[in-house]
Amino acid sequence: MELPTLPTQICALVPFDHAKADVILRSADGVEFRVFRLFLSLASPFFETLFDLPQAPDGASDQEMKDGLAVIAVPEDSKTLDMFLRFCYPSTLAEDPSLDNLTEVLSVLAAAKKYSLDLIERKVCQALANPKVLETAPLRSFAIARNARLKHETITAARYNLRQPLIPALFAEINLITASDLLALLTYHKKCIISVQNLMKNLKWMTDHYRTTNGCSWLFSNSSYNGNYCRCGQGTDKSFFPWGSAPVIWWTTYMQEVCELLQDSPSGNTVRTAADRTIQKIRSSTNCVVCPGRVKEGMTEFSKLLALKVEEAVALIELEMDF
Ligand SMILES: [Zn+2]
Repeated sequence: MELPTLPTQICALVPFDHAKADVILRSADGVEFRVFRLFLSLASPFFETLFDLPQAPDGASDQEMKDGLAVIAVPEDSKTLDMFLRFCYPSTLAEDPSLDNLTEVLSVLAAAKKYSLDLIERKVCQALANPKVLETAPLRSFAIARNARLKHETITAARYNLRQPLIPALFAEINLITASDLLALLTYHKKCIISVQNLMKNLKWMTDHYRTTNGCSWLFSNSSYNGNYCRCGQGTDKSFFPWGSAPVIWWTTYMQEVCELLQDSPSGNTVRTAADRTIQKIRSSTNCVVCPGRVKEGMTEFSKLLALKVEEAVALIELEMDF
């Protein structure tokens, strides 16, 4: 009778090829990792229990042995196992694997949960909470965090995603979430839009903050600045007359623009980005001798105030999702 051909055994790379290692872990794709029980036991109670099981005397068990070491087969593939083991080893021997690639996060997280390795879960959460990741790929972070049932990270990613348009473009991780998850995200986004719209309809927060028109004289062309008067002209859209009188026209234009943008991306970031554009435009304008000199100070304070109010309006809305 012919014996089945055994898969070729490949030895893992440094530091998982150590000659003095005391146990071998074999990945699903046949890569052998020679590791030290002590490091794994210290990192994970799962391994501590596994290695504490009484060892049967040689020949008295069906434990697979190689070079005098027990071989333990694990269901993870070699890529996941490599990343996972690097977390377990002291950092002087193995650098922590990079979690930049979000698509690799889930396999490590699943292994971390299974082997009770809290450190990995904390590091994964850290990677997902990285502002750079959240700013550039909030929807991908949302899908990964939701799939892994990480509540805090899912909510944070949904909040960052408000910077994006309501209807998302197709993204790689969309299959990690269910249609119900996506519906919950869209509903949250829509409710935030409505909450922020109310803010733009009633400017009481603005008159409360500045108290009188003197509190924001940069907004009115009839206020002098170093003996000069603004020549920009006045806005005519009465929805943006905070005290009943006409403000400078470029501020009205800013408010109309930001109002429209907030109907898709209800976030403080939307307010600040649009304000930066207005500041740049007015500073380089040559029509007026007054506004280029005072637009930055005035609009920085104003956009900070409006961004704060937007964030407060959005904070009232809950992402309705069970964890
Ligand atoms: Zn002006």
